Amino acid sequence: MFKKILIANRGEIALRVIRACREMGIRSVAVHSTADNNSMHVRLADESICIGPASSRESYLNMPAIVSAATIVGADAIHPGVGFLSENAEFVRMVEEHNFVFIGPSAEHTRIMGDKITAKQAVKQFGIPVVPGMERAVTSNEEAHAFCNDAGFPVLIKAAGGGGGKGMQIVYRPESLTEALLVARNEAKVNFGNDQVFIEKFLVTPRHIEIQVLADHHGNVVHLGERDCSIQRRHQKVWEEAPSPALDDKTRSELGELVVKAVKGLGYRGVGTFEFLYENGEFYFIEMNTRIQVEHPVTEMITGIDLVRAQILVASGEKLPFTQEDIQFRGHAIECRINAEDPETFFPSPGKVTSYHTPGGLGVRIDSHLYNGYSVPPHYDSLVSKLIVFGDTRQQAIQRVNRALREYVIGGISTNIPLHQKLCTLPAMASGDYNIHWLEEWLAQQA
Ligand code: ADP
Repeated sequence: MFKKILIANRGEIALRVIRACREMGIRSVAVHSTADNNSMHVRLADESICIGPASSRESYLNMPAIVSAATIVGADAIHPGVGFLSENAEFVRMVEEHNFVFIGPSAEHTRIMGDKITAKQAVKQFGIPVVPGMERAVTSNEEAHAFCNDAGFPVLIKAAGGGGGKGMQIVYRPESLTEALLVARNEAKVNFGNDQVFIEKFLVTPRHIEIQVLADHHGNVVHLGERDCSIQRRHQKVWEEAPSPALDDKTRSELGELVVKAVKGLGYRGVGTFEFLYENGEFYFIEMNTRIQVEHPVTEMITGIDLVRAQILVASGEKLPFTQEDIQFRGHAIECRINAEDPETFFPSPGKVTSYHTPGGLGVRIDSHLYNGYSVPPHYDSLVSKLIVFGDTRQQAIQRVNRALREYVIGGISTNIPLHQKLCTLPAMASGDYNIHWLEEWLAQQA
């Protein structure tokens, strides 16, 4: 087992990895930018090392600085967390070239899945149904028009290397296509350094359902059921739950088995997530994430499995400590993403936290790097906390999340807690009858 892990990340996910390391008797090393000198991940890690100035490009995305830090502290392995370099094949290669273990899949799997076009091709050969779309990047307006005329509008233009819900354009009419392609290409280039875009059929009422998988280096693969992440704004998840209110046991295990078969076929290792859209009883693969996900705690709550611990175990070469039969789903879990932003305008709200009180009681978990007196820097993602609750039933989980949100005090900055509070009281949330567009439609009605 590793003796020392360097965590190439910040915020709540860095804390999550530090916690797993400490329970496993592994020393943890935090890296940080100058804007994060007083961050909780720096305080909680066994060691810390500054890797650059505030800008992500010069710190958390600075590959040579991170690898140098790992060399200086004598780490065995690097955990990439989520975002930043977690799905960057070049980083995986660099880490391995310097003889550190990358806690994640191979550079090759990272590369294939990092491109939505190659990802769809890769899983299709194992019988995974994919969302109808172009099989290669758009090279001319003519072929884009030809595809859309065949598939029918609306369509969605996506960046092949996209992430974080950015760079997507919905097109309702043929006359808007050419301009939308131009905008999408530019956005893709600016955000992802890769201007390749492709086109998919835009699904009008799907749910977002994703399957969590875990694979060791010995060919053992399990799935840990699904998460429903349909409550989204601007293609970004806001509230996640497990199990999905829309799936029955049979559908869950059929989809899970299909995904396990694909993961085995791919020879993939580590944690991973297959994301699907689910509409009219059909699943359509959209992408695979090759890292731990922000919403992994809901799966941990209903399976009792520590996913980050399992991820570290398999990266060190150990066999999976459980089989598919050992994995039992119990109860219901909900995660609210708490962002430092205005609950109505959604403008970011960095700044000093002047009072802080976390909810407690049975079935309540907070994954957050906030503390009283901490200043949320303006340079990074606005996610500041995840409130996760567990209940025996979905109804109990909703009641619990509702009361926990009422206890949670984060003073000095604005957060979207009031939005989550409202959501808990709405009939669509109680019934579970919502799709990926529901939140935006509801927000538009409130405006
Ligand atoms: P990203 O990598 O940027 O997160 P994804 O491909 O995972 O992009 O899609 C993010 C979200 O965008 C999905 O959860 C869904 O809400 C929406 N989306 C993606 N593809 C489609 C599609 N073909 N039709 C409708 N919505 C889509």
